[in-house]
Amino acid sequence: MRENAVSVLSSYVDALRPIIYINHFDFKVVDDLINSISEHARIVEFNNAFGAIDFKSKLVKNEYTLESFLKIVMDDGYDQETFVVLKDVQAELKNPKVIALLKRIAEFNLEKEDYHENVFIVSGELLIPSELEQFITVFDIPLPETGEIRDLILDYGRGMNIEIPKETADEIAISLKGLNEFQIKQILNLAYQNGGTITKEDKSLIVKEKELLVKKGGMLEIVNFKEKIEDIGGLNNLKQWLERKAQIFKDLDSAIKFGVDVPKGLLIVGMPGCGKSLTAKATANLFEIPLVRLDVGRLLGKYVGESENNMRKALKLAEAISPCVLWIDEIEKAFAGIGNGNGGNEVAIRLFGQFLTWMQEKESTVFIVATANNIENMPPEFLRKGRFDELFFVDLPSEEERRSILEIHLKKRGKWNSKIDVGRLINETKGFSGVDLESAVKNAIEECFMKNKCAVTTQWLLQSIKETKSISVTLKDKINKLKGDLEKYNFINAYK
Ligand code: ATP
Repeated sequence: MRENAVSVLSSYVDALRPIIYINHFDFKVVDDLINSISEHARIVEFNNAFGAIDFKSKLVKNEYTLESFLKIVMDDGYDQETFVVLKDVQAELKNPKVIALLKRIAEFNLEKEDYHENVFIVSGELLIPSELEQFITVFDIPLPETGEIRDLILDYGRGMNIEIPKETADEIAISLKGLNEFQIKQILNLAYQNGGTITKEDKSLIVKEKELLVKKGGMLEIVNFKEKIEDIGGLNNLKQWLERKAQIFKDLDSAIKFGVDVPKGLLIVGMPGCGKSLTAKATANLFEIPLVRLDVGRLLGKYVGESENNMRKALKLAEAISPCVLWIDEIEKAFAGIGNGNGGNEVAIRLFGQFLTWMQEKESTVFIVATANNIENMPPEFLRKGRFDELFFVDLPSEEERRSILEIHLKKRGKWNSKIDVGRLINETKGFSGVDLESAVKNAIEECFMKNKCAVTTQWLLQSIKETKSISVTLKDKINKLKGDLEKYNFINAYK
């Protein structure tokens, strides 16, 4: 990680990138990096809290304002190669005089052969004034790779005098992927304090810590779930596919070592109320990993670049807590109108491009479950083979599937008995979705409770079915349209 970061950062300096924005909160890590690429460069530092400070000793030299500091160091680039390190100055980047000074340093650096001065803005917050956009290069410190995390864990064990088997370190390292060195050490400390050692059981502690990170970040939502794969009636094809992928997720380390590709995720399109959300939750349960929801609407911001920045943060956060299921509900609405020839709005197009590139390049263990009610406005790039591992279509349940859904919901409420004539119920529920079947069962039970808690019989259920307005009646046209649209793509029927 470190070698990689050093070589990328020094290549930016060599390529005359005048202002490098290092988006990181751990200043010690950043100082080490800047120091290791400085070679002959003189380093001057400004910290918003203190003014000019000595880069090495951190002693305060002068309580300048940023503006006066920049005026003083502006010409240093003529005498000697100079690195100007500015820390926590994001609020000052709204000051037009500061912007003008930074712009001048950047222009000199690009235009004058005898001038070498690079500015490093270091902050955990990314805020780029539009006037400086073309001069700024954002640099994200790469997160440690699995092997590096394993070494950190083993080093930690040696430091604490505890024996951590290599196999344990390998497994824990995968769960810690996505976190920076500082966060990893914090979690190891916590695990050590809890049990006096580090074991595979600490994976649940890591999941909890990662959930806290999500809550703090605010870009994603942690979804609590109790739904299991057995709670889904029908969808056998989809369930079998998921069970296969679950085996990989539950044994990630050896799967990756064996050469298995980490599953990317799936897209489920289909009728409302037929179990798409249920599947997202049951997947997380089956894989034994957290479920986080990405709501693209929530990422939209008022300022230029704000939405893209939010998307970047959200995806980084998902990676930080991976392995996890990233659920994007109603994905057709999130990126509506792109690629259908009607233009779509510019921010949505950029967000979509960003998401697609991330999906394409991602090597993390974020498993995407995208769900959609229709594909009419969905960009075709999404539906091409290779984006998702598989595209599933959820139709209305057939006879056999209705039987199993009815059974699940009756059993769940303790009202299943062999006297119920399921055959008749199936005949009367053609065109019902899963949620229709569930509400027929719920209403029948409620009615029986009202009628002096009488037994839930076939008659009561038939009565309730009669009163339920099924989805195929209310959404007939939409369903036919969806079926037509799906024929153009390679969707697999989730049921068969
Ligand atoms: P929407 O597109 O409207 O969000 P959805 O396909 O995501 O719909 P769910 O939220 O998964 O639908 O389904 C609603 C409820 O209906 C579920 O919580 C579950 O109780 C019941 N249900 C739907 N499909 C099934 C199924 N195949 N098996 C068992 N229950 C089901």
